[in-house]
Amino acid sequence: MARLAVVTGGNTGIGRDLVKAFAADGYEVAFTYVADPDAAHSLEHEVTATGFPCDAGDEEAVPALYETLRERFGCAPDVLVNNAGIQTWAPLLELSVERWDAVMRTNLRGCFLNTQAAAREMIADGKGGAIINIGSGCNKVAFPNLVDYTASKGGIEQFTKISAVELGSHGIRVNCVAPGAILNARTAEESPDYAARWSRITPLARVGTGEDIAGPVLFLAGPAASFVTGQTLWVDGGLFTRAPWADEV
Ligand code: NDP
Repeated sequence: MARLAVVTGGNTGIGRDLVKAFAADGYEVAFTYVADPDAAHSLEHEVTATGFPCDAGDEEAVPALYETLRERFGCAPDVLVNNAGIQTWAPLLELSVERWDAVMRTNLRGCFLNTQAAAREMIADGKGGAIINIGSGCNKVAFPNLVDYTASKGGIEQFTKISAVELGSHGIRVNCVAPGAILNARTAEESPDYAARWSRITPLARVGTGEDIAGPVLFLAGPAASFVTGQTLWVDGGLFTRAPWADEV
């Protein structure tokens, strides 16, 4: 029987690579998006996957999505990847409450809403499941000017643990993959020399790709990780393990 994987924010960047990786591994794949139906349709033509417009932070749209998935696929998801995320660049003293709320709404509330809805479906089918939250270096270190984002990813670190604790008895494993500097269309816009700048301080001397994230996500989704839950896997080329030296700043 086919396994069903759900990827939030699957239209672009890391999420798009995750959709492709799950499809290549034989999963049925459902992914969500908000902004660009054309990009979703192009992905549907590239791999066997179906896009669903769904705002991760919408408390009515998210449960409705999982009802639609049951009608469409006839089963609960086997895997959920909470990938949808946004960033605001602003210092604490200038950050607007609107931006704070928007980031928390997508990154943290979205993770909660999808986890709750997917877990209810998994429990109804009695087959367990795997949930993987996409974190960040901000799970453990604070990035200046990423105030709301840092707080949201710190929340994801703890939400991963409490979800693992509460859902473990249902056979649902919950883990987090925390990417380092991953080159994609969004990060390339952060600076023209994004890859060179981050490679310099990454022990493996390069930036990562969406494929670098997909391997560990598939591992945590699958039977090889059947006794792993509540963990964060740093997929960062060593970036967040390395202390900065005084002569670098
Ligand atoms: P992208 O901006 O390419 O991807 C983010 C995705 O989230 C988009 O596809 C976007 O969809 C979707 N999204 C945004 N808001 C919502 C919402 N309300 N509901 C549903 N989907 C939404 O960035 P990345 O691929 O780089 O980021 C993916 C994840 O990886 C994020 O959680 C990010 O924090 C994390 N990450 C990335 C790193 C990197 O270096 N790239 C490093 C560390 C963590 P749409 O386009 O339709 O709005």
